[in-house]
Amino acid sequence: MSEKLRNFIDGAWVEATTDRYAPVINPATEETLAEVPLGGAADIDKAARAAHEAFASWRSVPPVERARYLFKLKQLLEDNREELAATVTREHGKTIAESRGSVQRGIECVEVACGAPSLLMGDTLEDVAKGIDCQSVRQPLGVFAVIAPFNFPAMVPMWFFPFAVACGNTFICKPSEQVPLSQQLIWKLVEDCGFPSGVLNMVHGDKEVVDAILTHALIRGVSFVGSSPIAKYVYETAAAHGKRVQALGGAKNFMVVMPDADREMTLDALSSSAYGCAGERCLAGAIVLAVGDSHEWVRDGLRERAAAIRVGDGSEAGVTMGPVISAKHKAKVLGYIDKGVEEGASLVHDGRGSQQPDTGYFVGPCLFDGVTEDMVIGQEEIFGPVLCIEKAADLDAAMRRISAHPLANASTIFTQDGRAARKFKFEVDASMAAVNIGVAAPMSFFGFGGAKGSFFGDLKAHGKEAFDFFTDRKVFMTRWG
Ligand code: NAD
Repeated sequence: MSEKLRNFIDGAWVEATTDRYAPVINPATEETLAEVPLGGAADIDKAARAAHEAFASWRSVPPVERARYLFKLKQLLEDNREELAATVTREHGKTIAESRGSVQRGIECVEVACGAPSLLMGDTLEDVAKGIDCQSVRQPLGVFAVIAPFNFPAMVPMWFFPFAVACGNTFICKPSEQVPLSQQLIWKLVEDCGFPSGVLNMVHGDKEVVDAILTHALIRGVSFVGSSPIAKYVYETAAAHGKRVQALGGAKNFMVVMPDADREMTLDALSSSAYGCAGERCLAGAIVLAVGDSHEWVRDGLRERAAAIRVGDGSEAGVTMGPVISAKHKAKVLGYIDKGVEEGASLVHDGRGSQQPDTGYFVGPCLFDGVTEDMVIGQEEIFGPVLCIEKAADLDAAMRRISAHPLANASTIFTQDGRAARKFKFEVDASMAAVNIGVAAPMSFFGFGGAKGSFFGDLKAHGKEAFDFFTDRKVFMTRWG
């Protein structure tokens, strides 16, 4: 019998008020690792009340003292780094090297949040009018919550909660029900840090818990990361209930290759962008727009690289690509591959069934050539190891293709021409743009988030923007005699 997970509310591990449980499955072995509760409104109500009560005193703990809890958390995360990475691989499937990288990115968010005493400072101006001074301060707002996706089980909640509590808010984390174990471990470390009861809470669940978060009167703000249709729903519902919302959605990322690009560097970056984490990254390259005569070497080089990928259990040495998250998701990805073939794209590398273990949700790397804008695989997010190549006549045509797509998360250009790079950087729609880099991932001290249908809200995740999202700017005007 596998472990039944509990919620962490008001400083204690408590059973969820539900008899609905779902198995947490290792996608490489199909072994059941634990049972996660799919709670409901009563669990969120309990957490929201505890967090609301804790807010009254946590907000007046000096920022420098709040930061000290986070220094401790950073140390504990580092001490448990390997166990955390192994947990990410076990429940998600990505390779151990990829898991280590994602844990490191999460720790870096805690590091930036430790700078709260400086980053929370406001502004002052003497004599805004004769004898009148004006000052602005940042004040915490209350209870915040995050609703997380499955693809970065340890990292994504750390984009938010360290900043929220550093600013003086209290917090509820709702991990993805598909991968709750990494947060379970992180919340044990949170418990060891000795945060006052109710400051950091975790409630497991699915739609029922999400809906309770979006409508609870004591929750002031919501951060969401996941697919675009749910991001839009979360944004609209939470906003209709008077909350601050930042909702990061899905992606279809374009990678433009100019004929003058450095071939080896470009091919390595295209391949790892598309096939890293089995394509389950919001920053994964989905479509290569091969400009002019780059098309032939791009296709041949990518085919070679796809063939060299070793698919298997991410915890094993030498494996370079793990499984996708679930049987259901595997079927969805395979459905897109069938659709691409049916629509007339050319499957120049077919990774289905190639040297894969019999057990587990494996899909080998697939490469399509001859994709066009009107094909389903040229439009929809596949979120699997499937890369599409399209021809583009020139940079303008490539940029028109990108602008016409409803999603705009990240985009990259590969070129040695400064003018082309500059035009792309400043004019491309995507909010995360890169030059000669396959994954345009802003680090924890910059903001993270897309545009158009990839992002709903105003303020992005982490970086300085986090201090805007998690505080209200109050302005004082003062005159003395
Ligand atoms: P998802 O939208 O299915 O689920 C995300 C969260 O929403 C989960 O916690 C889930 O419990 C909840 N949820 C699911 N269905 C719901 C519903 N009907 N009502 C209310 N809540 C619901 O996303 P996922 O499959 O877990 O994650 C993959 C997606 O996340 C991809 O589209 C990917 O591009 C995106 N993503 C985006 C970013 C980014 O920075 N923009 C980062 C990571 C992942």
